[in-house]
Amino acid sequence: MSVFSDAGVRGLACAAVLAFSLAGCGTAPSESVSDGVIDVTAEATSDDAGNADADSAAANDASGDANQHAATETPVAKNMTPAEIRATLNIVEDFRDEFIHGEKPAEFQKYIVMHDTEGEGEASNVIDWWASNGSRVASHFVVNKDGSIVQCVPMDKIAHHAGFGDAGHNEKFGVTDESRDDKEGTQPIGDWAPDYGMNSYSVGIEMVHKGDEHEGYPEEQLRAVDGLIAYIDAYYGFQSVIIDHNDWRTGNSDCSEEFQPYLQNLQSTRTHDGS
Ligand SMILES: [Zn+2]
Repeated sequence: MSVFSDAGVRGLACAAVLAFSLAGCGTAPSESVSDGVIDVTAEATSDDAGNADADSAAANDASGDANQHAATETPVAKNMTPAEIRATLNIVEDFRDEFIHGEKPAEFQKYIVMHDTEGEGEASNVIDWWASNGSRVASHFVVNKDGSIVQCVPMDKIAHHAGFGDAGHNEKFGVTDESRDDKEGTQPIGDWAPDYGMNSYSVGIEMVHKGDEHEGYPEEQLRAVDGLIAYIDAYYGFQSVIIDHNDWRTGNSDCSEEFQPYLQNLQSTRTHDGS
């Protein structure tokens, strides 16, 4: 399918719409401010990057032993170096300078934000479309259904994948410093969602998935996500708190309902199946 067909364009819209509108990936909530849907608390500061204080199982388990819950079916074991883990993953680099919006040193890394592409387009096509539409939005990684991965932004750079979040979420998530983000290409989406800090403290992972048809996630894709999270954990030497895009911006359509059990498992065990 052409990425420029209606379905394709719509399908590639998750991160792309963030800077522009409420359509596609994000749907505006009827309420102006979240009433506590998110259970990540705001005590964390930039000084304790990677140990963001959250009342989720993921944060309670953030011991710094990055691979202690590595799935047995994934080729990731304790004590593997980041490079060794990365070598087990089918990652292609396709870095684009226009996706970079500032520096994200390790001390500012706190979150891994999960997204759906909300379409069937392959990762390479998704990234080409992001580059062509001028919005300068992107996630660091895009994971195909077959488990192959394309990385288009280095992890120590800010990418515009999370966009604007609910009023108060900068404080709630402990992501208050927006000064490192050039914010080029952004356009406010409303008074209900003025906070823009998440991009400056996170790595974005986009999964090729179309939620409105309630399709499942292939095991190969889920295992790739497990491996990618193990790699990110090992790269930083601590466990980032895993959230989905909807946690940051209430009413967002991604990740899908089908992903929620996997998200909970990832938060508690760092693997999609809870192993
Ligand atoms: Zn998203």
